[in-house]
Amino acid sequence: MAKASLSLATLRFACTGCGGCCRGRGDYWVEASRTEQRRIQRFLRVSWNWFRRRYVIAYEDGSEGLRWKNDRCVFLDRDDRCRIYPARPTQCRTFPFWSEVVASRASWRAAAKDCEGIGRGAVIPLAQVRERLRRYRRDTTPES
Ligand code: SF4
Ligand code: SF4
Repeated sequence: MAKASLSLATLRFACTGCGGCCRGRGDYWVEASRTEQRRIQRFLRVSWNWFRRRYVIAYEDGSEGLRWKNDRCVFLDRDDRCRIYPARPTQCRTFPFWSEVVASRASWRAAAKDCEGIGRGAVIPLAQVRERLRRYRRDTTPES
């Protein structure tokens, strides 16, 4: 049976800042390209080598991402706030407007189980949804 399609023009979302998407959920991870890593490294004002050793992990498909420790992103502080918010990767900036999340009503609902911001607040303007999707597709490795 075909999956029920989702209208991109009807999506409500208002992040509560709960930090849920920055904590471990099985196979979830945060990809960070070299450009994104540079932005974070400069924001933190640490050396490139130190930054890479301490915060970056390489995946089998050749992509790289942020390290997680005790099921939390290393940049999530004790108050569940992002320590690098102005420099966070595209994946974090564009959630939940990811191709796989807006693929169908079922995938949107599934994401809402882990994100209390989905379905809250006002409808996000379609142009914003499309722009976030475009950036997500541009900056992340497609799921295989
Ligand atoms: S889980 Fe959703 S509501 Fe919570 S911080 Fe992440 S995007 Fe915001
Ligand atoms: S970089 Fe910031 S927003 Fe992204 S997962 Fe880590 S703590 Fe969360």
